[in-house]
Amino acid sequence: MTSPVVGVLALQGDVHEHSQALAACGAQVVLVRRPADLASVDGLVLPGGESTTMDKLLRRYQLLGPLRAQVAHGLPVYGSCAGMILLADRIECGVQGQQTIGGLDVTVQRNAFGRQVDSFEERLDAPALGAGPEEPELRAVFIRAPWVSECGPAVQVLATVSTGPAAGRIVAVRQGALMATAFHPEISGDLRIHRAFLATVSRGWAAQK
Ligand code: GLN
Repeated sequence: MTSPVVGVLALQGDVHEHSQALAACGAQVVLVRRPADLASVDGLVLPGGESTTMDKLLRRYQLLGPLRAQVAHGLPVYGSCAGMILLADRIECGVQGQQTIGGLDVTVQRNAFGRQVDSFEERLDAPALGAGPEEPELRAVFIRAPWVSECGPAVQVLATVSTGPAAGRIVAVRQGALMATAFHPEISGDLRIHRAFLATVSRGWAAQK
């Protein structure tokens, strides 16, 4: 094996786009649909889609427990949009009974940017990802996106919205091997987020070799 294996949770959502972005960054990609699929992965991406549907499917396919165990065991996981919701320890505006995998010590508000706006692009301040006023800006696509309304002490803020009414809102975070963005880098063609996640995956992968 010459590169880490990254799983993409393939129950629902933009699985294909994440798979392509990861492959473009040099990862071997496998689709994860059953608990046994987790055995071969060095990292996992939770795609965007609909977190309430994914929650139901995770429970139906008996993946919720194994995923919680893997996160607790230190598996690197990156969640985008609905995937960010799935990684959050606490959610606001979830549907009744909605569960998450958890692991990220954050509160995430679903559909926080307002239901009237389905999809838009924003410029971000993201110095930790090599984006800021002097650097090429990170342009992020948001689709019925959440934001992070509260972070625990171990959480590093990676990006905030730089302009407009949502300026200052937290939209990308990292905590240990977990990373999450409210936006969709897999459809903007900017691979900085996937590369940053793969750097985390590769560190763990190399340590096991
Ligand atoms: N609003 C969706 C949810 O609650 C997330 C949207 C997305 O992933 N693009 O799951």
